[in-house]
Amino acid sequence: MEGKMWAAVLHAPGDLVYEQVDIPVPGENDVLIRVKACGVCGSDIPRVLTTGTYHFPTIPGHEFGGTVVETGKNVDPAWKGRHAAVIPLIPCRTCRACERGAFAQCEHYDFLGSRSDGGFAEYVKVPKDNLVFLPEGMNPETAAFLEPVSVALHVIQNNQVHFGDDVAVFGLGAIGIFVAQWAKAFGARHVFAVDLDPQKTEIAKKIGLTDAICGSKEDALRVILEKTGQEGVDAAFEASGSGAAFNQALAILKAEGRLGLVGRPAGSLEIRNEGFEKILRKQLTIRGTWSFEFKRFPHHAWELALSALNEGKILTEPLISHRLPLEKTMDAVRIMADKSEFFHKILIEP
Ligand SMILES: [Zn+2]
Ligand SMILES: [Zn+2]
Repeated sequence: MEGKMWAAVLHAPGDLVYEQVDIPVPGENDVLIRVKACGVCGSDIPRVLTTGTYHFPTIPGHEFGGTVVETGKNVDPAWKGRHAAVIPLIPCRTCRACERGAFAQCEHYDFLGSRSDGGFAEYVKVPKDNLVFLPEGMNPETAAFLEPVSVALHVIQNNQVHFGDDVAVFGLGAIGIFVAQWAKAFGARHVFAVDLDPQKTEIAKKIGLTDAICGSKEDALRVILEKTGQEGVDAAFEASGSGAAFNQALAILKAEGRLGLVGRPAGSLEIRNEGFEKILRKQLTIRGTWSFEFKRFPHHAWELALSALNEGKILTEPLISHRLPLEKTMDAVRIMADKSEFFHKILIEP
């Protein structure tokens, strides 16, 4: 498909321009996707405003999906017209990390939306192996959620949530609220979803996280202790990047408890002395999670995420605070940077 398309193009940190560029030409093993929706990720804020992409100009946006409109020579032409989510990570498949299926640790990866052009555009060129087709009847907009839902699944799998566990999640941005929903889907008894923002805790309650706690109105630790017979939780997740939440998560864990970290740090972290001591005495495990998995064995994480979305075990619709056209991409970034109005998940719909 020759011609021009509209895109939000990053020319330098802070310089995101809505402009016309050439429609990308798919290679032999690629497809061309007409983007239906692309989520704005928390990581897009520094990427667009301060740190930049790996080179310029680049089109950011890595949480997206849409419709296959063109297929390369080695791709089944019958794929045309199908709706798919896009896995933005393109691993080299030859380095040591890739050999063991740890694609998120690839040493020479490409990434749509930071190293190559991504989803804040009408069209994106995508390798055929990076598509996850949506089942018949699923809203194609949902494709934009597959990436954060898969990241959240990775967090749960790295830290293991078992049937009957009590769980606390600090920070109810997109990743945190998906971690909380996954914890429920994995059979947790109580899922204490904690956020300082009353609107976010209300949304959490509405989607079935009935133990959600607004940390600015209630003493979260006291409530959790009350509801767990003063025991605390088996697993805690820090999804806000705040040092205060990190210390709260440590404080609320049982002996042998597991602390999963996924929130990008808002600053340096000071661990209080009693927390430091507790890590030793109570033999706590602290584990970080980066990105998502997508090796095929034993389960393709994105396929699991898709099933959970399709079966309604993970809900996305109530999390959408804004649907904005492509020309408003910079406005979306500003809303998230300045916190000038309430936002949860902002979707760009080119
Ligand atoms: Zn992201
Ligand atoms: Zn690799």
